[in-house]
Amino acid sequence: MRKNMSQNWKSAIFYILIPLLLIGSIFLFSAQSKNTTAKNYSEVVNLFRNNQVTQYELDLSSGNLTYKLVGDGENTVNRYTVPSVSYFLDDISDYVNDYNDANPDNQIVYNYKKGSSNSWWMSMLPTFIFTIIIIVMFVWLMRRMSSSIGNETNRTLGFGRIKSKTQSGEDSDKKFEDVAGCDEEKAELAELVDFLKNGEKYTQLGARIPKGVLLVGPPGTGKTLLAKAVAGEAGAPFLSISGSDFVEMYVGVGASRVRDLFEQAKKKSPCIVFIDEIDAVGRHRGTGMGGGNDEREQTLNQLLVEMDGFGSNSGVIVIAATNRPDVLDPALLRPGRFDRQITVNRPDKQGREDILKVHAKGKPLGPDVDLKEVAKDTIGFTGADLENLMNEAALLAVRRNKKAISYQDIVDATSRVELGTEKKSHKYSEKAKKLTAYHEAGHAVASYYVEGHDPVREISIVPRGLGAGGYTWYTPQEENYNSRNDMLNDLISMFGGRVAEAVALDDISTGASNDLQRATEIVRDMVVKYGMSDDLGPVVYDSGNGEVFLGKDYGHVNNYSEQTSARIDSEVEKIMREAYSKTMSILKEHYDKLELVAETLIKKEKISGEEFENLMKNGTLEVEAVEASTEELTQEQTETENG
Ligand code: ADP
Ligand code: MG
Ligand code: ZN
Repeated sequence: MRKNMSQNWKSAIFYILIPLLLIGSIFLFSAQSKNTTAKNYSEVVNLFRNNQVTQYELDLSSGNLTYKLVGDGENTVNRYTVPSVSYFLDDISDYVNDYNDANPDNQIVYNYKKGSSNSWWMSMLPTFIFTIIIIVMFVWLMRRMSSSIGNETNRTLGFGRIKSKTQSGEDSDKKFEDVAGCDEEKAELAELVDFLKNGEKYTQLGARIPKGVLLVGPPGTGKTLLAKAVAGEAGAPFLSISGSDFVEMYVGVGASRVRDLFEQAKKKSPCIVFIDEIDAVGRHRGTGMGGGNDEREQTLNQLLVEMDGFGSNSGVIVIAATNRPDVLDPALLRPGRFDRQITVNRPDKQGREDILKVHAKGKPLGPDVDLKEVAKDTIGFTGADLENLMNEAALLAVRRNKKAISYQDIVDATSRVELGTEKKSHKYSEKAKKLTAYHEAGHAVASYYVEGHDPVREISIVPRGLGAGGYTWYTPQEENYNSRNDMLNDLISMFGGRVAEAVALDDISTGASNDLQRATEIVRDMVVKYGMSDDLGPVVYDSGNGEVFLGKDYGHVNNYSEQTSARIDSEVEKIMREAYSKTMSILKEHYDKLELVAETLIKKEKISGEEFENLMKNGTLEVEAVEASTEELTQEQTETENG
């Protein structure tokens, strides 16, 4: 906010000043050439010839003439600028002399001046102003154009960017109490706060205060928030910059920004320098691909130099945040740099409840809302997700014209946050509807017969978000070990969709392509990364993170032979086929359930987890009224079969 304000001010002044100057100088130009009494030359000369002038003064260099006429009052002054002084003198001096000779006691008083400095100024002023405007505009344009080139003038500009992002400690109003749920992380950081507050205590005992702390964790878990809270608790200035700010098109800018940042930090110590997304600059060096790498390398080197440069007790503590600690250059993690690492995890159930409480502040909750329940339903959510969830719930409540947020609002908001907005307007053909219903029912039913699978939370054939079809939504378990069996079980529920199409409709659609892709990835990882296959044994063939980053994996040479490669492929295929046929036998065995769920979906479009349980157990949506609805269902089933 603050940054925008000051920058806007500057440019606003600029945009107002230039037109003002332009208008001003145009005005001056016209004022100068303007003849104040709208007379022409012959009229003025005639005034002299008719002896109407009683008094005049002529500036010999500028030709400015002031004169008084017969009958003019004390204060009246007429002005005229003569085009040529010598012609004018030729034209009038005879008359003036004749008159003065004839009327010795009533002479015309006259005075000839030599050019006054005032009028010289006046004539030059507009030219001056124009020149200045053009120079200023030129400089301004040049600065703008080169705003990312790391030259000396520009450094001040780039620096301005850092400066404007800097907040003083008073401005970081975040406190530890604003960060809910991360108790262990807070305890570790509390030590930092003490370093900043009572540095001497530590230096007296010869302790080395850590220079850098690396916060590691998935996006949205509150890393930035924690860093701000440390500054807020210690009352220390908070200088923050994002790693991507360092990375520019032009070589050298990043490095000079690092230098500026630390220069400023040293002046403000004790203070906190916060580098967000440090992986943007701190990646492994020497993985050259493309020119941008040189820049990154220079920036990183400068960062290392600066971190070594300030003494460990200078009171500057660098906090950096990343969600990719694996790609960081090892030199950054050496003692004396980021020697402490704090992992910020996704919150557990209690943590989620606490975070929800923080973000429920100022939002009136209905009596039926139990944040404990919400915390139970939001496994895997980060702090940012939960904040978003509460906000969405409030928006929904407003749209529904409610005074307070009800539990239903929060539940609906949860699915919106997780799966995207419902596309109710989506129109299905009967055939596509049936296909989607069987596909999703296949996922759900297959997962139901797999032991230890996450329970179904909702099945729907109304598309949401990006996907075109429906979805089956599972409630994740709190603890996920990712065991081999878990993965094989996941495969079965993933294949459920495709298999159901094949079993029930004797045809297969493209709707399963995403399922199959995810399944293939899992199986490949099982074989290549986790050493979980029978044939290849506990050998890791590929530990990479599957992503080409900065050329590290570019032109990556497999460290296994062609034969092994072929074995990997056949092993992947074998596991996939096994899972597929297992799914096939499950769905064939429980075909009645598949049909029941699918037909219910076609009618209802959406089934909740509870309803699904009841369908599977009792063959009906509700526990009560078993008979009535089964009859109804079978009746309708026969109807559809006949139709
Ligand atoms: P990160 O930097 O880890 O990506 P942020 O610190 O930017 O995440 O968090 C984003 C937002 O999520 C915060 O502004 C805050 O509103 C919310 N948030 C995240 N974690 C917490 C938490 N532990 N307690 C309260 N709010 C949180
Ligand atoms: Mg962040
Ligand atoms: Zn599917």
